[in-house]
Amino acid sequence: MDHNLQLFNTLSGKKEAFKPINPPYVGMYVCGPTVYNDVHLGNCRTFISFDIIFRYLMHLGYKVRYVRNITDAGHLEGDADEGEDKISKKARLDKLEPMEIVQKYSLGFHEVMQKFNTLPPSIEPTATGHICEQIEMTKKIIERGFAYVVNGSVYFDVEKYWKENNYGELSNRKMEDLLANTRDLDGQDEKKGRLDFALWIKAKPSHIMRWPSPWGEGFPGWHIECSAMSTKYLGETFDIHGGGMDLIPTHHTNEIAQNIACSGHPPVRYWLHANMLTVNGVRMSKSAGNGFLPGELFEGSHPLLEKAYDPISVKFFMLQTHYRSTLDFSNEALQASEKGFQRLIKAVGLLDSLKASGTSDVDIQKIIGDTYAAMNDDFNTPLALAALFDGVKIINSVNDGKLKLNAGDLEKLKSHFNHFVFDVFGLKKNLSSADGETQPGLLVADGLIQLLLELRNEAKAKKDYAASDKIRDELLKMGIKVVDTKAGSSWEIEKKDLTHD
Ligand SMILES: [Zn+2]
Repeated sequence: MDHNLQLFNTLSGKKEAFKPINPPYVGMYVCGPTVYNDVHLGNCRTFISFDIIFRYLMHLGYKVRYVRNITDAGHLEGDADEGEDKISKKARLDKLEPMEIVQKYSLGFHEVMQKFNTLPPSIEPTATGHICEQIEMTKKIIERGFAYVVNGSVYFDVEKYWKENNYGELSNRKMEDLLANTRDLDGQDEKKGRLDFALWIKAKPSHIMRWPSPWGEGFPGWHIECSAMSTKYLGETFDIHGGGMDLIPTHHTNEIAQNIACSGHPPVRYWLHANMLTVNGVRMSKSAGNGFLPGELFEGSHPLLEKAYDPISVKFFMLQTHYRSTLDFSNEALQASEKGFQRLIKAVGLLDSLKASGTSDVDIQKIIGDTYAAMNDDFNTPLALAALFDGVKIINSVNDGKLKLNAGDLEKLKSHFNHFVFDVFGLKKNLSSADGETQPGLLVADGLIQLLLELRNEAKAKKDYAASDKIRDELLKMGIKVVDTKAGSSWEIEKKDLTHD
């Protein structure tokens, strides 16, 4: 594969050349949502970032197996194995079966990811579907001496592990610092060390989600599911593991420890982490009152939002910040980005009607080279978009007759824009109804209008002005305005109420 892709690896703290273990195959695991409530926008940003990475790797020619799990059991309220299971608690409060909660929020999650036009992962395994694998892995960790059983629960022995391995490797922390920052908690008396964490938890009589195990009835700890499922589908060592930065200190640190304790070698070559969201400079959280949900953003139904925002233009907005940087939401920034997105899509719409000249005034290869250089530099989407916007200027100038492109360059520009705007960035032509719902029918309509414009051009070429005027006038009656320039024709929506504004 001919590329110079560099990834920022959290494990080494620096950018490294991407060399998959078994090219052209790439294994990528991303920690998915715990489906006990509506998916947060911060999680969406993480999944959108890894969708772009998935798409770009495929664009480079890799055959990617992308595994993103659904956590439907074992995720407790507290990070230190305390509190209720999040899904059981929600089921108790809503008087529903835990699996009704799981079904409801899994469907909701998929619906939101579809609105953002992300691709489904290759495999989407659930924790409850892999209890056997988690029990087997726990047994192996006990056999290898890194876990112990107390009263029906199994704990990972962090101090013992740390004697032979660097437990603080991913988060870059020392044992003294970790111990100093750990509280004593209820139920800690079962653990030998304060940093130990549960691989299997004995179910109290009131606990609904429970399975038989060699240690009695219980349920798996949260961290073991990802170790068990990534190993099952991607092997003991695979290429990329991703997630939000908040998962580094506990969840991902524990995943590494479990895998090394079980197999004797590190599970992942490149650890990639997406940064968090802020709203007007303040970290997005429920307690700060600024934690609007994707649905509220699409409907404009949160007090902090001035209007509804189309999912695809929100996605475009996210791509204007590198995935490892904090992304700040504000009405001002979202609206500025909406305008930029319209400019990009309008230019893409012009590409088909541009007329080729005998010669070229500009170097198209520079735009193509700049886009790849940006994406190869740890998936730098803002810089890649900047390169595409250099292309937008050229498209507009050719359309205005101020610049010339030969047929070969025009073809290259077209395919470059199609590859990046649609295949890699997963953007869509922003034809939305007032409720923010993208209508597949309108996407078909775009193709039909382009066809009518071609027929109109043919009529004009034959000097059949009656036919060409008829097409223009009938389209206008439907709210579609034909715009003629020297280089050709394009269209825009004339009626205000057909656009989402
Ligand atoms: Zn995970």
